[in-house]
Amino acid sequence: MHTDPSQASHRLQVEILDAMAVGETFEAILALLCRRVQALIPEIACSIVTVGEEGHLCANAGPSLPIPDRNLLAHLSGDWLDRTQPAGGGNPARDDGETTKVPLRPSSELVLPSGWAASWSSTVKAPTGQTVALFTMYFRNKRGPSEQERIVAETCVRLLSIGIDRWHLQQRNRQLAHYDQLTNLQNRRRFNTVIESKLGQASRSFGLLLIEVEHLKTINDTMGPVVGDQVLREVASRLEQVAPAPASAFRIGGDEFAVLADDSADHARLRELVSRIFDAMRPPFRCRDNTISLQVTIGGVVRGTDGDSADHLHQNADFALQHAKASHRGGYVAFEPGLRTSAMRRIETIREVALALAEHRIVTYYQPIVRLDTEQIVGLEALARLQTKDGRIASAGEFADAFTDPHVADRLTRQMLSEVAADIRTWLDDGIPFQHVGVNLAMSDFRHRNLDQIICATFDAEQVSLQHLVLEVTETVFMDGPNHDVARAVTRLRDKGMLVALDDFGTGFASLTHLLSFPVDLIKIDKSFIDRLLTDAPSRVIVEALIDISEKLGMRTVAEGIECVAQAERLSELGCRLGQGFHFARPADAAHTTALLKQSAQR
Ligand code: C2E
Ligand code: CA
Ligand code: CA
Repeated sequence: MHTDPSQASHRLQVEILDAMAVGETFEAILALLCRRVQALIPEIACSIVTVGEEGHLCANAGPSLPIPDRNLLAHLSGDWLDRTQPAGGGNPARDDGETTKVPLRPSSELVLPSGWAASWSSTVKAPTGQTVALFTMYFRNKRGPSEQERIVAETCVRLLSIGIDRWHLQQRNRQLAHYDQLTNLQNRRRFNTVIESKLGQASRSFGLLLIEVEHLKTINDTMGPVVGDQVLREVASRLEQVAPAPASAFRIGGDEFAVLADDSADHARLRELVSRIFDAMRPPFRCRDNTISLQVTIGGVVRGTDGDSADHLHQNADFALQHAKASHRGGYVAFEPGLRTSAMRRIETIREVALALAEHRIVTYYQPIVRLDTEQIVGLEALARLQTKDGRIASAGEFADAFTDPHVADRLTRQMLSEVAADIRTWLDDGIPFQHVGVNLAMSDFRHRNLDQIICATFDAEQVSLQHLVLEVTETVFMDGPNHDVARAVTRLRDKGMLVALDDFGTGFASLTHLLSFPVDLIKIDKSFIDRLLTDAPSRVIVEALIDISEKLGMRTVAEGIECVAQAERLSELGCRLGQGFHFARPADAAHTTALLKQSAQR
């Protein structure tokens, strides 16, 4: 070295600090440092190995060494940083006495590249005292560093200490800005950046999946938020396994994830990815003595066919997801243009019902349930009706979409319960004969842990006994909910004295044996079976078997949607005792129902 070493190292310092100041990348700065040192002392080579925040080693620079970076690490054991005793033998050039130097065991030494006879390393420490890097000089012959080389090394160590500190800070900020702290997946902000950058490449097609974790609220409510967090982490990690690069997973909301899949440029490929995701979610997840089944619902779009801007794609994927949630919960729906219209209609219906609730235009109608033999009324079913602004009465089937909105469904159920309780009070006070009234429940009613409290409070307020109440729960609702939560909630309700009816029997996907294990008092056979009863032999066999089994299990059956006398007679022959349908009476308001009860209720 011919230049004045302190001047040379001063120049080195200025140049590296300048590079940091102008925002050069960390890797570029390390490479520059090595190059400058080698320019200063041409007879040596140098390398830098850094330690990530999690303790991972990374060979960042060794530009003139005749080996790839990763080989530099080949002989470094993970614990090399903790070693403080002087190493025996090994690298003759190492200064064992100084604690700032890394005394490596022979087995864990930096490998010496061929052509180099000795190496000499210095550790770089963070202000916290933690070792963050290893700066190594390599010599052509077996010797230690000269005085000048020591000075240069010290300068490098100081520079590295500053640079790495800054880098860690940048990393942490980046992590905070772009990654979700809970799952370590990229966050919504990062998702927006990535999708925009993909869209920037005109010819590039890709798939987008929106994935919602089901029952997270119930899990949080019943098992605690710690378990809820674990579920999210588990879903994230399974997603990452299924969708590794070039696909990438993001957490974009509380219970919502997204996957961008480069290799799924059409719906068929996207569907394959989706089935891999469902497969990955299938194994039950054990957490704190709970076994949880991870259920996700997915909506998907493909760039190009389903949209060409981030907003459009996201919105369409969301339409598909919402459609899946309403009709294929736990399943997948691929976007198609028709979904846009039905999604718009759904939103409009929810809005209309919310408004009608606020304006007291939702009224309660009742439809009688009769004994098939005497046609006397034994019970009623309460059905919601909407009074439109032009005075028409819309039946519930017309605004059923609104029951899928948790907020609206919640308000509707509360209103129905309190109107029913009040009407029952009036009938009781007036000595009008009736036995019980059925109220329909929506899925979201089971999301509250306090459904039973709401019901009890409502009926208590009118001083009406719960034995007059039948809760109608559909098969789909029964099947929903993690770990038979609904069945458990239903058992609690029955313990309080209410009756429970399994509504729309036969329209869901549950097996007969599964269904019959539901804790119910009453089974309502869906209208679709009654419609086919006279013409379709299999329907008749099913209905007959069903009536037989449920009677034997102590449950009563009600046939729904009876529209003619022939159906009523056939059902009687098959052993069914109760029925409901236009043949007996259409749903009517409380005043009409009162008159009807006076006239033909069973006393
Ligand atoms: P559901 O519980 O199966 O109610 C029976 C539906 O069948 C009612 O339709 C009733 O008007 C209709 N129906 C009864 N007999 C006959 C018949 O002989 N022929 C025909 N064609 N239809 C008949 P609605 O009132 O339109 O209700 C539709 C569905 O909306 C109900 O099906 C129920 O699932 C839901 N729903 C109604 N009211 C409420 C409510 O207050 N809350 C909730 N969550 N859901 C409700
Ligand atoms: Ca019903
Ligand atoms: Ca029904």
